[in-house]
Amino acid sequence: MTVAPINETQPRVQPAPAEDLLQVRDLKKYFPIKGGLLRRTVADVKALDGVSFTIKRGETLGLVGESGCGKTTTGRTILRLIEATSGEVIYNDQNVLTASRREMREMRRDMQIVFQDPYASLNPRIQVGESIAEGLRIHGIGTAKERRDRVVAVLERVGMNASHLRRFPHEFSGGQRQRIGIARALVMEPKLIVCDEPVSALDVSIQAQVLNLLKDLQDDLGLTYLFIAHNLSVVEHISNRVGVMYLGRMVELTSRDELFSHPMHPYTQALMSAIPLPDPTVKRERIILQGDVPSPVNPPSGCRFHPRCWKAQEICQHEDPVFEQKKPDHWVACHFAE
Ligand code: SF4
Repeated sequence: MTVAPINETQPRVQPAPAEDLLQVRDLKKYFPIKGGLLRRTVADVKALDGVSFTIKRGETLGLVGESGCGKTTTGRTILRLIEATSGEVIYNDQNVLTASRREMREMRRDMQIVFQDPYASLNPRIQVGESIAEGLRIHGIGTAKERRDRVVAVLERVGMNASHLRRFPHEFSGGQRQRIGIARALVMEPKLIVCDEPVSALDVSIQAQVLNLLKDLQDDLGLTYLFIAHNLSVVEHISNRVGVMYLGRMVELTSRDELFSHPMHPYTQALMSAIPLPDPTVKRERIILQGDVPSPVNPPSGCRFHPRCWKAQEICQHEDPVFEQKKPDHWVACHFAE
């Protein structure tokens, strides 16, 4: 198979924006807790408990929420790095979760991931050129020379060059290692990239560079991103739409502009109130959430957010709010969303 450098093979055309590239329906992931002499399942950690959303071609969907809300599990379950308990993930009219090994092998070329800690995802004993080419080798793409040419093209695309090919991960800064992580994903010419907290471990000055690189790549290559982060400012910078997760569920989903101007869910409002304002003379009333996130082993009855919600009323303790469209393209799970 002949392989040209990546920037020659991918059209610089934005696909039709309205078309869904990925549909996630009622996705659940329960991790069993084993106990007793026979190591039977005694309970489940409900890391994901019925999450649904779509991602359009060429857009960035941001996923935010506190640690443990299920956003990383969502990204990894979609890619089948961990197996779902139930639900559907439809990519190009095909259910990823029931795909055979052969079908999955094909789909993996299209769906890549960039991890939070690039150092942990790179083998410290392997030169970065080899690491980046690994996916090409596994899929039997190209000759050694063609693979090298593509790796060099991808390295240059992320702001590095051929002189970095033979170096080891420890010889690079955090920002460079993340560029290598992006190159590893990019070399397969994917359509969808799950970016799992890709800038959380970087200095603030480097974060902006990596975010701008991801945006440029999207514009040039028509990529689609699922962008996972706990930092709302980062998500605001890069996303077209944003989903807010709480305790394994999606509680709000809408466009970036709508979410940041009119958050409707009390949890989102609390997260927003904690974002620092650029003007220090302007004060915003901070909503302090009481208590910790409850255990996903035994989530609260009714609305899962009710023990921490300042708007909670009696109904919230026993009636689970439906995730529904309260305004055009603005979905919320709250009895009193406003
Ligand atoms: Fe708060 Fe009730 Fe809305 Fe849940 S349903 S977020 S407890 S007001």
